[in-house]
Amino acid sequence: MTGYTPPTALTIAGSDSGGGAGIQADLRTFFACGVHGMTAITAVTVQNSVGVEGFSEIPTDVVTAQIRAVTGDIGVAAAKTGMLATAEIIQAVAATCRDVGIGRAGQTPLVVDPVAASMHGDALLRAEALEAIRAELLPQASLVTPNLDEVRLLTGQDVHSAMEQRDAAVALYALGPEWVLVKGGHMRDDEKCVDLLYDGSEFVELSGARYETNNTHGGGDTLASAITSALANGLAMPDAVRFGKRFIERSVAEAYPLGRGVGPVSPFW
Ligand code: PLP
Repeated sequence: MTGYTPPTALTIAGSDSGGGAGIQADLRTFFACGVHGMTAITAVTVQNSVGVEGFSEIPTDVVTAQIRAVTGDIGVAAAKTGMLATAEIIQAVAATCRDVGIGRAGQTPLVVDPVAASMHGDALLRAEALEAIRAELLPQASLVTPNLDEVRLLTGQDVHSAMEQRDAAVALYALGPEWVLVKGGHMRDDEKCVDLLYDGSEFVELSGARYETNNTHGGGDTLASAITSALANGLAMPDAVRFGKRFIERSVAEAYPLGRGVGPVSPFW
């Protein structure tokens, strides 16, 4: 026994029964980063490597009670949101986070991964909930980390070039987050994988290697969790994002096949 307590991080997200994405990816990333991970589960997905068969959301009062239970006792150094499933859960999570000091006006940084669908195209968010993400959650976010599909859903903008990636970052910033990370991983014609970080004044391009693999399940969750871990360790946002980028690059490099469908990015490296 050392008496050492690691930094703590909270994920507010959905469970993936296949163990590739969601809460399961978040917890193994927190562990790999030396952070004590805690969970407020929002939904239970029925899922494997082939796709999402369905999901059941957790009652809203149980979601918020999980957040209050861990903040009231253990304390949270940084938090992230993933799959939030419904407008009611988004509204309740945003209000509870405001109340306990999680998010941009509070002490605790909040990374918002605006999860809308799985990579197979299965919906993880009820259609009417997009507006709640825009109106309730983005103004609360220290950082929002959309992929290009999520950029289109949130802003209506299509991104095919570095210039359009900048335009999208500006449009997202106008919705209220402190920092925006527009992930370029889905711009397939690029040989690099360039993400763009923006804080309302400066653009920072983060370039990483592109690996030829189909096994990228849980990649977005793993990136957001690695950034959250770095924030829990006290890093400033640009350094936390640089760390996350390095972490996901290595996790994609070591991704492994699983089942008959798409395997996960790997924490084993
Ligand atoms: N299932 C859950 C519970 C998730 O949170 C996510 C992504 O955030 C996914 C599935 C989809 O992951 P992917 O797009 O990597 O398949």
